[in-house]
This record gives sequence, C-alpha cells and structure tokens, in this order.
Amino acid sequence: MIRAVIFDLDDTLYDYHTLHKEAFKRVQELVVERLGVSGEQSEEAFRRARIATKENLGETAASHSRMLYFQKTLEYLDIRPLYLALDMYEIYWGVFLNKMTLYPGVDKLMDALHDKYVRVAICTDLLAQIQHRKLRALRLTDDVDCLVTSEEAGAEKPSPKIFQMCLDKLRLYPKEACFVGDSFEKDVKGAAAAGMRAIWFNPEKQEPPAGSEDVVFETVASHEELYALLAPTLSLPPIEEKKGEA
Ligand SMILES: [Mg+2]
Repeated sequence: MIRAVIFDLDDTLYDYHTLHKEAFKRVQELVVERLGVSGEQSEEAFRRARIATKENLGETAASHSRMLYFQKTLEYLDIRPLYLALDMYEIYWGVFLNKMTLYPGVDKLMDALHDKYVRVAICTDLLAQIQHRKLRALRLTDDVDCLVTSEEAGAEKPSPKIFQMCLDKLRLYPKEACFVGDSFEKDVKGAAAAGMRAIWFNPEKQEPPAGSEDVVFETVASHEELYALLAPTLSLPPIEEKKGEA
C-alpha cells in the first residue's frame, strides 16, 4: 500500500530551465553594465566558474551553489570578489523566485493526496536554504510533510543514502512509497534501486537511456497523467469530479 508520494523538486514540480535562463540573463546584464566587460567575457567566466566549482566539490550540495559560481566568475574576470557577487546572487534568486509557478495539475494532485491521507515528501539535490525558499515561493508550505535535501543527507541522488533518509523520516518501507522525478539517472534509477515504485516525469517524452532495460518504472508526461496513474492505487476521485468542485 502506498502511503507517501515523494517528489523531486526542480523540473518535476516546476520548470527550472526557463527560470534559470531568465534569471541568468538579468545577472549578465548587471555584470556587463557595472563592470564594463562584454556579455561573452562574462558568460565564459561563468561557464569556467561553474565547471571549476563542480570539479572541486564533486557530488555535493554546495557544488550547485550560485554564490560560489558568481564569486568565482568575478575572480576569473579579475574583479574583487566581494564587489558584486552578492548582488548577482540576489538578482538571480530574486528574478527566479518571483516567477515560479507550479506545473499544471500539481495543486489538484496535492489536494487529492491529502484528502486520502497520503503523505507528500520532497527529496532534492541542492542546499536546504534555497529549496525552502523555492517551496515557499511555490506556496507548497502546507503541502509538504517531509523534506530531504542533499545538503542534509551528505549525498546526492542516486545515492541510496538520500532515499533512505527520506523513508526514515516518513517511517515507511520502500514498498510503501512511490517516487516521481524528471531525471532518469538520479530519480528513477535511484528510487527503483531503493525499492520504491519509480515514476519518470518525462514531459519531453524522451527515450529511456540505453542500458536501462532492467529498471522497473512507469512514465508520465504531465501531472494530469500522474494523477490518472495513481488514482486506482490511491483511490483518488476521477479528475473531472475534483474539477467540478473547484
Ligand atoms: Mg529534477
């Protein structure tokens, strides 16, 4: 029996990539205006900064830190790092958080899960502070019963450690949880290896990667499809019925 649905956050509950592009563009504009460097120079410095940070920190939550990327970008541009890094960070997340919206159908699914006393968890790579801010910006504060970040777990998906920490917090066996995420490697393979029912959120309808024939998973392209997939197991009402009530 499924007692909890565990979701990945970025690109599973909202569109991360579009927001990142928009927020990053605003940071670029600031850098070009304030430092008099070209857009290409600043973009190249950021690209190097991101690679260097990831190489240095490996599979850790801090390897995703925008603060570190921006500080290092300035260092590569030969600018004193304290001059603008914090402004870049605040502009980036200001734009990003301000424009966040849930994918269609998430609200309805959350309501239906709560109605059936199915708990909702978030299991996500990245730093806790920013993931808390994103969940608040998405107005999911009242919907999330349990949160695990890779900062807290000390390991990134698909490490069994982060999945197990989530199950421990929920006090559930793997068979009692299903996991929904957009990354085949991190979410689907990791959750399936941890013994959970694994659901691939795959709006682009990509093919599963080669070599994944042994992985047991289901695929959905939208949250409406996810609702329909979970409805029989969780006795969720038909989606039309909920629509009429709203
Ligand atoms: Mg994701």
